[in-house]
Amino acid sequence: MSNLKHLVGISGGKDSAALAIYLHDKYPDLPVTYYFCDTGKELDETYQLVKNLEIYFGKEIIELTAKEPKQSGKNPFDFYYESFRGYLPSSQARWCTAMMKLLPFEEFVGDDLSVSYVGIRGDEDREGYISKQDNIQSIFPFRKNIWSVDVINKVLDIKNRRAIADFYSSQLNGNLLDRVINIILEPIHFDSLNKEAAKRNQKEKLDRLLNIDVIAFNKAVFNYLKETNYPLANEIDFALLENDDVLVRDDIFRILEESGVGVPDYYQKKEFKVNGLTGEYARSRSGCYFCFFQQKIEWIWLHEQHPDRFKEAMKYENKKEGFTWNQNESLAELTKPSRIEQIKLDHIKRVGKEKSAQSEYLLDILDENEGVGCSACFI
Ligand code: SF4
Repeated sequence: MSNLKHLVGISGGKDSAALAIYLHDKYPDLPVTYYFCDTGKELDETYQLVKNLEIYFGKEIIELTAKEPKQSGKNPFDFYYESFRGYLPSSQARWCTAMMKLLPFEEFVGDDLSVSYVGIRGDEDREGYISKQDNIQSIFPFRKNIWSVDVINKVLDIKNRRAIADFYSSQLNGNLLDRVINIILEPIHFDSLNKEAAKRNQKEKLDRLLNIDVIAFNKAVFNYLKETNYPLANEIDFALLENDDVLVRDDIFRILEESGVGVPDYYQKKEFKVNGLTGEYARSRSGCYFCFFQQKIEWIWLHEQHPDRFKEAMKYENKKEGFTWNQNESLAELTKPSRIEQIKLDHIKRVGKEKSAQSEYLLDILDENEGVGCSACFI
């Protein structure tokens, strides 16, 4: 039996929860370990989601905390907040993710060969967290392309064209094989001054290969991996090679609802009134309640829907030292009545504009910065 570890991280977000359920139901023989990196500062809904998943799986979701905070007995965020002398994390200095999510995960995995499943959806155009450790390989079951970008770069590299074409020869024949070989042998136009164009060119080539036959592509990649040091290199087979599912946002909500695990309450839209107008707000992400990635309207949501948590977030700020969750504006300033009114009116205006241009879903609009945030925290 293989010693490969199969890992799914539960972030508290809808996509990772749905991924865990999807793998559990579709691949019951896959020995998946579920884990949760608790920052100690999640909303209650997140802890409830973890409990619901444990009931659904009938097994424990392992809670991961790095050694130092564990030994101190403090909760992880407060331990590091004190170590960093009140210096709050930010998008430029994201010590929170590094210390509370990535470090405990890499400590837990150690040197074991591992596959980490990531819940990036088929309707998203971003890469998830890819470990720098050679013994951890990421797989993306919700996308047509289940492989990480580093694997694809190697597979489509000019050096490997012949080998990949040979692997395909054992999967396909006739006209299909001719089409695939033609695509593989086409050069990728690499212009060192225009890396974006080269990336687009590679992506287009990948899409054409996947559109011909996803399973044959997966098998060719899997065969190629056998000549590398990737964790899957030593496996005789891999259950997800036959997977050609593509799951999008609606599928995620369906999985959560149909399983009975449920959608965390913070995703549910709530109405608010301002100056005779009605608007709606929700929280678009999981993660710490004070996360600096959240939008102004989400801070107002926290202030009004979870006032105790908002007050706790305020306690970490020190305006004199310049330590605030938002640049140039403390939470006390953000919640002055005139500022709340302005944020709500701006939000109503923006939703109205983007509903016609982009999407009818509030979560899509709140999520427009989805790719900017932290994939270890929000998936
Ligand atoms: S949710 Fe936000 S604050 Fe919490 S660890 Fe992730 S990035 Fe940092």
